[in-house]
Amino acid sequence: MSRIIRTAIRVEGIVQGVGFRPFVYSLATGLGLGGLVGNDVDGVFVEVEGPPAAVREFLRSLEASAPPLARIERITATDMPPAGTAAFRIVASDQAGARRTLVAADTATCADCLRELSDPADRRFGYPFINCTNCGPRFTIVTDVPYDRPLTTMAGFTMCERCAAEYHDPADRRFHAQPVCCPACGPALTLVDASGKAIPARGEPLAAAAGLLREGRIVAVKGLGGYHLAADVSCERAVAALRARKHREDKPFAVLAADLAAARRLAEVDDTAASLLTSQARPIVLLPRLPGADVAEATAPGNRHLGIMLPYTPLHHLLVGALARPLVLTSGNVSDEPIAYDDADALTRLGPIADAFLSHDRAIHIRTDDSVARTFRGRPMLIRRSRGYVPEPVVVHAGFPRPVLACGAELKNTFCLAKEHHAFISQHVGDLENAQTLRSFTEGIEHFRRLFDIEPQVVAFDMHPEYLSTKYALELDDVDLRDVQHHHAHIASCLADNGADGPVIGVAFDGTGYGTDGTIWGGEFLIADYADFQRGGHLAPVPMPGGQAAIRQPWRMAAAYLDHACPGMPPDQLGIDVARRDPARWAAIVSMARQGVNSPLTSSAGRLFDSVAAILGFGGTVNYEGQAAIELEQLADPGERGAYHAAIDTAADSEADPAIDPAGPFRVHGGDLVRAAIADLLTGTPREIIAARFHNGIAALVEAGCLLLRDRHGLNTVALSGGVFQNMLLLRQAVSRLEARGFRVLVHSRVPCNDGGISLGQAVVAAARDRLD
Ligand SMILES: [Zn+2]
Ligand SMILES: [Zn+2]
Ligand SMILES: [Zn+2]
Repeated sequence: MSRIIRTAIRVEGIVQGVGFRPFVYSLATGLGLGGLVGNDVDGVFVEVEGPPAAVREFLRSLEASAPPLARIERITATDMPPAGTAAFRIVASDQAGARRTLVAADTATCADCLRELSDPADRRFGYPFINCTNCGPRFTIVTDVPYDRPLTTMAGFTMCERCAAEYHDPADRRFHAQPVCCPACGPALTLVDASGKAIPARGEPLAAAAGLLREGRIVAVKGLGGYHLAADVSCERAVAALRARKHREDKPFAVLAADLAAARRLAEVDDTAASLLTSQARPIVLLPRLPGADVAEATAPGNRHLGIMLPYTPLHHLLVGALARPLVLTSGNVSDEPIAYDDADALTRLGPIADAFLSHDRAIHIRTDDSVARTFRGRPMLIRRSRGYVPEPVVVHAGFPRPVLACGAELKNTFCLAKEHHAFISQHVGDLENAQTLRSFTEGIEHFRRLFDIEPQVVAFDMHPEYLSTKYALELDDVDLRDVQHHHAHIASCLADNGADGPVIGVAFDGTGYGTDGTIWGGEFLIADYADFQRGGHLAPVPMPGGQAAIRQPWRMAAAYLDHACPGMPPDQLGIDVARRDPARWAAIVSMARQGVNSPLTSSAGRLFDSVAAILGFGGTVNYEGQAAIELEQLADPGERGAYHAAIDTAADSEADPAIDPAGPFRVHGGDLVRAAIADLLTGTPREIIAARFHNGIAALVEAGCLLLRDRHGLNTVALSGGVFQNMLLLRQAVSRLEARGFRVLVHSRVPCNDGGISLGQAVVAAARDRLD
């Protein structure tokens, strides 16, 4: 008789609520192994008994063939004495302390469910809420832990007999799928008007909604993490009306395409983009738009890119299928408000926008926006990490000695709760200046604390005294407070994103961040590791005439830079409307800047982009953050190789701390780029070429600054972070220049380079300082 062994196996990670036990059950029984499997506080425990070869095969397949939603972080196996069991069984869960296990992210409808959805013989044929252990809502419906149906927004739906049988059968693909339901027992669609009344004489809600869209109407659609506003993408009138009613003047709308083939009729989709579009997370992916794509002009005015996503709920599949053409699918909000997710609130706020509401009775517990991504060199690059990714933790190998809450930044806020090796970054909260957003920030922190059982002992926050996230942190009792400089957080976030250690040369280029000297930073070269940083160099500061007003009106920055770079030059020769139409106003702004009246100094790279955008004709006021810079990127001719040169001033100044660095931080004269752009403009160089030379000039100054710091500090790794590096033209140029000089370059992938990544950076900085104490 052959030898029999028994092995105890522990599996940690996201292994509950993702079909892991049925998977183990069929794997073990398929190999003829006896034993047991169950859930406990730490994840899944397994014991298998049988011939050594079968046990080895079991261990191999456990990792290799795990269910798609599982995220295995660790498998440990120990031998134990055989017990003579030939049968395999699923044992009852130990619920005590189940909080340590992880809640999964919402996941796109799987292939098996899609097959049933389109099978007329299936009892869930055409049912918009079909799901299974491998797909469906998770994070957005969980009200508390442990993750179990009564603690989800499915609590009010009692399973019918057939659903209950599937739910309790270990061999069924819906075994313990908490949101399992069917037309007999689950949520149902409704089509209502803004007063919440059913729209009569329209028939079945989904077909009726598709009919309205086909007529060029706007329909609010309740999705996974909130309401969207939908319109036929090829209908100029509908998309323009949507833009006008939403008070969203320029920011591009996302498009929902039925599948990859449909996406390829609208934009260039390479392999990386294709796998991102079809991934379980289904982010909006920004792709180069095809000339002649059948898309209304108002969808993404003046933009060479199109944000495309594929359906991620059965409802999306059915809707886009019924319409047989792509839809604009943009967040259900007015202007910059948070996306609506509560039914009553949606009716109130979206009533003036939508002609009808395609809604249902499964509540959304947590507002979660769509994620947004780009691709860079075969890797995804998340710009907004939200639905589909959250709350999956970012694993931080160095770990967190004590539980940390990081409060994040003011704009594009996320917060982060971290303990042991897990950083749980929140969904995109938004800009905290809005009262409703601030409430989702504070409520979100409480929800995450319960969900992941984290009682923070350390609280990290931005140094900016006026950030609402900072004020929140300062009001907390019985915690150790750690302030983290904004750009240090950016670089630490990039290090953690890459699992890298410092020290590195960190280039943090963004719009605004509070500096240790009280001025506004944003064009920073840092020498940084997790615990600490020093300022190695920066853009030479210029005044921001009018403070916040200079952010909204890029021409003010043009005035400041022009006065700085080309004093005495008559501004009316530039493409700046204000300078021509209202010379008195221009002169007033220049004198404001000169005298330093309400003109804080800034080294911001974002403001340098703004000034050149204004000089090349960006008029008026920006409607969303970074708009002028984004339009400048769109304008630039990617084929142009010329680059403007900015001088670097290495003379010591008052900032120098001789104990650290006798030379002190260098200053890069961004004004040189402005002067060169103006010179080209006045000799009739096309604006596309000027925009490109400016971008190349920024990349060149990044390269020059890093070379200087390599000489001074002997460091060969560069981390690029900050919102300015969302600019792909700049990112490509900067990375290739640095690599050509032999640098190792770290860029973001899993966590945004913009302020959405700040909370992770703050958390890892706080942890590193904890380790030093
Ligand atoms: Zn499924
Ligand atoms: Zn049912
Ligand atoms: Zn920033």
